[in-house]
Amino acid sequence: MPTDPNRNIIHIDLDTFFVSEERRINPKLIGKPVLVGGNGDRGVVASCSYEARKFGIRSAMPMKAALRLCSHAVVVRGDYEAYSKYSNLVTDVIRNRVPLFEKSSIDGFYVDMTGMEKFFGCSLYSKELKEAIYNESGLPISYALAGNKLIGKVATNEVKPNGQLEIPFCNERSYLAPL
Ligand SMILES: [Mg+2]
Repeated sequence: MPTDPNRNIIHIDLDTFFVSEERRINPKLIGKPVLVGGNGDRGVVASCSYEARKFGIRSAMPMKAALRLCSHAVVVRGDYEAYSKYSNLVTDVIRNRVPLFEKSSIDGFYVDMTGMEKFFGCSLYSKELKEAIYNESGLPISYALAGNKLIGKVATNEVKPNGQLEIPFCNERSYLAPL
């Protein structure tokens, strides 16, 4: 995995995006096991809260199987137009602050910080970006600052939810070793 000491990539991922968006609209869902997805025979879990994950529920699981694991979960059908709108809003927050980024999914982004000379500068920048996204969209994110996309993505998943991590270039090998 070649990494360049001068590259700094921030991988950003919205935490349980559809659930967070539903909770932003209806705060009564906060703290409950929430499943977003169709409730019919062929319904599938599109997103689930961490409270639901404790029961073994995961995204892409049939809704029926999920409800067998946690019968008191709250099922929300989902409003994909609203998700798309909020995804675009987050994209705008990033676009207004960084020169180079890539939207990798409805809730994932890679920001290229290469050219910001000092790692400390990137560190502060990432923290401010996380705050700006939360302040402007109400949606929590996790991120990792790393030397390439793959390490950033792996690290983001490790620190979720509402987490952040920086992996300085010299520590990459020791970071990945135990994973
Ligand atoms: Mg996500």
